[in-house]
Amino acid sequence: MREYRKHASTRAVPVIVLSSKEDPATKGEAFAAGANDYLVKLPDRIELIARIRYHTRAYLDHVQRDSAHRALRESQRQLISANLELERLTRIDGLTGLGNRRYFDEYLAAEWKRAFRAQSPLSLLMIDADNFKRYNDTYGHMAGDDVLKQIARVIQSGSGRSTDLAARYGGEEFVIVLVDTILEQSSAIAERLVQSVRELNIPHGPDRVTISVGVATAVPTENETPNDFVNAADLALFRAKSEGRNRVALHMSRS
Ligand code: GH3
Ligand code: MG
Ligand code: MG
Repeated sequence: MREYRKHASTRAVPVIVLSSKEDPATKGEAFAAGANDYLVKLPDRIELIARIRYHTRAYLDHVQRDSAHRALRESQRQLISANLELERLTRIDGLTGLGNRRYFDEYLAAEWKRAFRAQSPLSLLMIDADNFKRYNDTYGHMAGDDVLKQIARVIQSGSGRSTDLAARYGGEEFVIVLVDTILEQSSAIAERLVQSVRELNIPHGPDRVTISVGVATAVPTENETPNDFVNAADLALFRAKSEGRNRVALHMSRS
């Protein structure tokens, strides 16, 4: 009895104890050891078969439930991991692997609120590839896609902290959200990005592929929105473009 209960493969096998004694102590011991039934002397054929049938059925049901349960657990596990992957994919830009526009919007809105509550500085870098239409026209759209991937890698490595978000804003434009970062730090990061992209040394006509970056930093106030913040960085980017591209421009806040 005890040997049966010790091993995983026989643990659940039903055991009917046949005994010649109606001794309560022996009976108790048998049940304590895991017996399913206890018969005193050999019962008549019909009763014995009925009992064996009953315990066999119970055992088979148990085995079936067990394997159904295991299959259910396995499919639940697969569902959870598929959902996680799906969730990850909804946040990611397919070409570059950076965050996508939707994720950026959510992220900025959340960080804007957080920075407002903490009254801490938030920085935004708006990054745009220079003369990129001409790049595509000269080298083809596929080559252009490859350049965007390379720029994205630079941008990803430029945002060092885990709370920073690098995302593709759309087309050949990228953004970085820098949490708890003042203008001095974010403009240094922007300068480094401009330099790193230039140092990729990707030929672009007589020149090289470059980017322009607009930087905005703000401690959020009650009547400003994340949209205003994006516009501020965009304005700075526009200035970097009009001042000759391949450079950084800072948004000067009125306050
Ligand atoms: P600027 O320096 O003023 O930014 O000039 P630009 O030519 O980069 O700007 P414009 O907005 O006129 O053109 C952007 C170009 O970026 C147009 C399009 O061909 C290219 N572009 C946008 N998205 C993609 C993309 O996913 N892949 C490729 N290869 N090119 C893209
Ligand atoms: Mg653009
Ligand atoms: Mg451009």
